[in-house]
Amino acid sequence: MPELPLALWIALAGVLGLLVGSFLNVVILRLPARMAAAWRQEAWDVLELQADAVPLPPGIVREPSHCPHCKHPLSALDNIPLLGWLLLRGRCRYCRAEISIQYPLVELLSGVLSAVIVWKFGPSWAALAGLALTWTLIALSGIDFRTQLLPDQLTLPLLWLGLLLSLLPMFVTAPASILAAAIGYLSLWSVYWAFKLLTGKEGMGHGDFKLLAALGAWMGPVSLLPIILLSSLIGALVGGTLIALRRHERAIPMPFGPFLAAAGWVWFVAGADLLQGYMQLTGVR
Ligand SMILES: [Zn+2]
Repeated sequence: MPELPLALWIALAGVLGLLVGSFLNVVILRLPARMAAAWRQEAWDVLELQADAVPLPPGIVREPSHCPHCKHPLSALDNIPLLGWLLLRGRCRYCRAEISIQYPLVELLSGVLSAVIVWKFGPSWAALAGLALTWTLIALSGIDFRTQLLPDQLTLPLLWLGLLLSLLPMFVTAPASILAAAIGYLSLWSVYWAFKLLTGKEGMGHGDFKLLAALGAWMGPVSLLPIILLSSLIGALVGGTLIALRRHERAIPMPFGPFLAAAGWVWFVAGADLLQGYMQLTGVR
């Protein structure tokens, strides 16, 4: 890596994060539609019926972005992350339809979290891996919020990458990574079945098991319990606030994925510090 001051690397990571954030917006919107189309196609094939003539939804990379309301293609200026939305004051330049706050939020989140990763790890391969983890977790959270799905197309590559990095090893050793992936999957799988047998309801989806397995592969077995505890805490805070503000019905299931992802990211960046603080607080050495 060339010799640049850390502050410059952090700023570069922030800008890169903003740019990747606008790509993540596209992934969050288009990947579930692509998945649904593929499932419909498979269902037709299984039933040995003629496929319906519904055109495929837009590709993730190829099609240029356009206003979802009036379909007018966006100019390069409108596409500038964060700034484009701010300059347009959240409305389409052509039809004045409101542009979802999701766009600038995801871009801002991606920019800030990317900067934090480089601040934490410095300009290094670990930071590069951390950025891949961060961006995948943002895409997963956005998709889970919108559709209550955690696509295998994202959770499984994240799991594989975590396992492969442990061969170096980068963050944890290979035995720790493999063990944590298995324990992570099985722990939520057991909770799922216990909950289902006791209440007859499904408390979470299989995507949640795979996401915790992936986080385990990146961070090892020690991280699993804190991640579960942190995610429940974040979930209770966010859920409680939403119910108090009457923005969310108690009966509608809350996606668990975004809270798992948030807890996993916090532990990835600050786990060692949190653990040390906890031990000092409780007097354990
Ligand atoms: Zn428009």
